[in-house]
Amino acid sequence: MSAGRFAPSPSGSLHLGNLRTAFAAWLVARASGAEFLLRFEDLTTGAAPAAQAEQLQDLALLGLTHDGEVTCQSERTELYAQAIHQLEQLGLTYNCYCSRREVREAAAAPHGAAPEGSYPGTCLRLTQDQIRQYQRAGRRPALRLHGSAGSSVGIQTGIQTDDFVLRRADGVAAYNLAVVVDDAAQGIDQIVRGDDLVETTPRQVLLQGLLGYPTPTYLHVPLVLGLDGERLSKRHGAVGLQELRAVGLTPQQVLGYLAYSLGVTPQDSPVTAEAVVNGFSAQNIPARPWVFDPSELRSG
Ligand code: GLU
Repeated sequence: MSAGRFAPSPSGSLHLGNLRTAFAAWLVARASGAEFLLRFEDLTTGAAPAAQAEQLQDLALLGLTHDGEVTCQSERTELYAQAIHQLEQLGLTYNCYCSRREVREAAAAPHGAAPEGSYPGTCLRLTQDQIRQYQRAGRRPALRLHGSAGSSVGIQTGIQTDDFVLRRADGVAAYNLAVVVDDAAQGIDQIVRGDDLVETTPRQVLLQGLLGYPTPTYLHVPLVLGLDGERLSKRHGAVGLQELRAVGLTPQQVLGYLAYSLGVTPQDSPVTAEAVVNGFSAQNIPARPWVFDPSELRSG
C-alpha cells in the first residue's frame, strides 16, 4: 500500500502556505488511492498539545482526512538512536565540537572543493589533545555524517553532501535523520512538501541508501508568498484558517481558493476536498510561487 504524509512542526498555527502543501499532499495520496499519514515533527518544539490540536482541527475542517494514528517524533527517539547506531557501526560518523558560530565561520571561509557554505570537516582533524580540551571545557559534541568530498560515502552512492548533523549537541536527533527514519518506518513512498526543503533531499536520499531504505518519490510544491514577495507568515495578517473564518470565510471557500491556486479547479469557488480528488493532476500545480492577495479571498 502506498502512503503519503503531512509532517508539520507544531510551532504555531498552519498558515495558507502550510495548508496548501497539506492539501497537495492529500490530493496526491488520495488521487492515487494511497494512505495519508500525519506526523508532528516536534523534536525542536517539544510536544505542543495546543498547537497540535489546532492544526488537527484545521485539517479536519478542510476535510483533509488521515489514516491511522497521528505520530509525534518526540515519542520515537529510540528509532532514531538505532539508525544513528547503524551509521556509527559503519564508521560513517564523527563528533563535532564546533559551536554554531564556529560552524558559520568555517563554512564561510573558502575551502577547496567542498560546496560553498558547507561544513569543511574541521573536527575530522582534531588531535586527542584538542578533543580533551573541548571535553574539559564542557562542550558536548554533535554527531556528523562523514559524507563530504573525499570520503567514500558519496562515492558509493553517487550523491555528495556536506557533513551534515545527525544528532545535535543536546542529544536530539537532527531533522534529516529523523525524517528519513520515520518515512521508512511508516512506509511513506510519496513525499509532497514545500520547496523550501528541496535542498535537504540529497542528504535524505543519501541516508536512505546508507540505512538500506527505499527512496520515495518527491514532489516539492512552490511556496506561497505575500504581496511583498516574502514567504507567507503571520506578518501578512489573517493567513490562518481560524482567522479567515473569523472574517467570514467558510472552510470550503478557503479550500476552493487553495484548489484554484493548485490548478485543481479553473476558478476560485467553494469546494470540498473529496469533490476535487478526481480532477486532480500534480502536473497542473503551478511551478512558480503562489502570491496570496487577501482581496481575492472574498467572503459571501
Ligand atoms: N516538518 C517540516 C516542516 O514543517 C516538513 C518536513 C518534511 O516534509 O520533510 O516544514
